[in-house]
Amino acid sequence: MSARPRSTSHARRTPSRLARERELAARARAVELPRIADVVVLGAGASGLAAAITAAESGASVVAVERSLECGRSILATGGGRCNLANASLSAERYHNPDFVSAVCGESFLEDVLGFFSDCGLAVAEEEDGRLYPVTREASSVREVLVSRALKASVTFACGREATAVTEDGGSFDLDLAPTFEGGRRELLGARAIVIATGGGCDAPAECLGLPVVSPRPALCPLACEGLDFSALDGRRARASARLARDGATIARETGELLFRPYGISGIVSFDLSRNALPGDRVMLDLLPEVDVETARELAARGGTAGLLDDALAAQLGRHGKAAGDVVVRAKAIELLVTGAADERRAQVTVGGIDVGALDTSTLECRGVPRAFACGEAVDVDGACGGFNLAWAWKSGIVAGASAAHSVRRR
Ligand SMILES: Cc1cc2nc3c(=O)[nH]c(=O)nc-3n(C[C@H](O)[C@H](O)[C@H](O)COP(=O)(O)OP(=O)(O)OC[C@H]3O[C@@H](n4cnc5c(N)ncnc54)[C@H](O)[C@@H]3O)c2cc1C
Repeated sequence: MSARPRSTSHARRTPSRLARERELAARARAVELPRIADVVVLGAGASGLAAAITAAESGASVVAVERSLECGRSILATGGGRCNLANASLSAERYHNPDFVSAVCGESFLEDVLGFFSDCGLAVAEEEDGRLYPVTREASSVREVLVSRALKASVTFACGREATAVTEDGGSFDLDLAPTFEGGRRELLGARAIVIATGGGCDAPAECLGLPVVSPRPALCPLACEGLDFSALDGRRARASARLARDGATIARETGELLFRPYGISGIVSFDLSRNALPGDRVMLDLLPEVDVETARELAARGGTAGLLDDALAAQLGRHGKAAGDVVVRAKAIELLVTGAADERRAQVTVGGIDVGALDTSTLECRGVPRAFACGEAVDVDGACGGFNLAWAWKSGIVAGASAAHSVRRR
């Protein structure tokens, strides 16, 4: 079961898309799998590609099994198609399970991620709030450099194949692969070591191996709220600070861009709050975080709300003939009631995954299952908006891939 619906099932199939899929299916069919590989990576998304590259460059024979017809498809949608691949201020505190992240990623977290991309030949640029993007601002560049580096390292891509079962068999693994394209056939593949890199839908391999899994749920998503006429504000943006409160206690605070939608709030502030928000919580919004209340009142007395607030917001907050001074005071203390996650299909991460207590922090090997490793969102780690989730995917993939290759050598 996957916590996040697969995007491909919703995609409209135009004739050119159908032709492309036929071509990819033909390519997938033509791939000859070995009977056994040193390392089999389950999932060729962000963390799986990093793991496959690192394992192969460490001298292991590597097969990367991917249920989509192409590897790295998940990367293409990131950062609005621009791929916010890391953040210049990577720190473990921005993650759930920070001690685990700190132990795995160490002091050189950012340097390791940047070094990995520099070795791929990718130039990176920094934007607001330390967000790092490829200089091309194209997510496809990121996927392309990763795939070509993997192919150069002789990784075999087994696309169009879903790993449906994994069994441990006397120190190696047997994998059952089901085709996801027409005319494909079920295959069996042996592995001396495996890396679970299946993202938010990690349940199948983890369950097969009896690993403890924290139940997945979507996060980094918009929030459905009550408290304003949201339909009149649809599409309006504001830089806001927000406090999430439950029974009067503060649960989380965020500052950043807020986007009003007909159902409530979206944008970075909402995404980051959604990690902790539950129906019934309150969101206390300040739509003028850079101006204190007295200054706001004085400025409004001179020039009305025009120099302080978006006009649609001002119109709504000023209903019932409120004076400009009262409108800006209200803009600094808006209370919303959270009614739930608004659109789970838009969730950027899945909270939950393999319990971090089941993993060795220096290798990401699963305790009790020698030579099974895990990385990326398959592990119960998720971070804030701004490049933190991909940074974890790359770095944990590098650690798991290197460790998997090493485990095979030391046998
Ligand atoms: C719309 C969107 C935008 C995002 N933007 C950003 C951003 O800008 N910056 C950021 O840091 N994070 C972003 N994220 C989050 C980021 O994409 C993920 O955290 C990251 O991709 C996780 O990497 P992963 O390798 O764990 O999982 P994925 O990249 O999801 O890869 C998992 C792969 O495993 C495959 N798979 C799953 N099960 C099986 C199986 N049984 N057999 C074979 N294959 C399988 C899947 O098809 C998939 O290709 C975004 C997410 C979304 C949805």
